[in-house]
Amino acid sequence: MPTIFTHPAVPLALGLGLTRKIISGRLLVAGMALSALPDLDVIAFRFDIPYAAALGHRGFSHSLAFAGAAALCLACAAPLLGTSFRRAFPFLFLSMASHGLLDAFTNGGSGIALLWPFSAERYFAPIQVIEVAPISVSRFFSARGAQVLLSELRWIWAPCAAVLLIRGAALAGRRLTRTRQDR
Ligand SMILES: [Zn+2]
Repeated sequence: MPTIFTHPAVPLALGLGLTRKIISGRLLVAGMALSALPDLDVIAFRFDIPYAAALGHRGFSHSLAFAGAAALCLACAAPLLGTSFRRAFPFLFLSMASHGLLDAFTNGGSGIALLWPFSAERYFAPIQVIEVAPISVSRFFSARGAQVLLSELRWIWAPCAAVLLIRGAALAGRRLTRTRQDR
């Protein structure tokens, strides 16, 4: 897995890119929380649930179906998030689904049960460029942890920031054109 600090980068970039007009502040926070949620399944190790089981780490909680179900439940409370169901559902689904998809690009652990409950197969992306984060907190504060953060900076944060910069420049350009036309 990328770290719990990095999974929210995807909904953050998506939400800021779509602007507050489309993604409310509360919806953005909900999306960021959902993007980190699947890794609560590490609790499975405490109960000796095998890694490869559906209830194991990177199992059902990382699937697209679970992301859809969680997004559907939360989107039903869209007014509390200051938005509509139509806007909340796709954003929340993409936020949570991005977790399993990003994990598939990591270079360690087990694959991701993306298609559960239709298939128990664990999938990896064709390329695994993101350093897998250690599950234990103590190992995270080590040279290995720094290596993971650098890898996430390069493969997740930097592309998200680049997309946001391009989107920001496009929005600023559009605003400038509109101002000139109004004169
Ligand atoms: Zn994960």
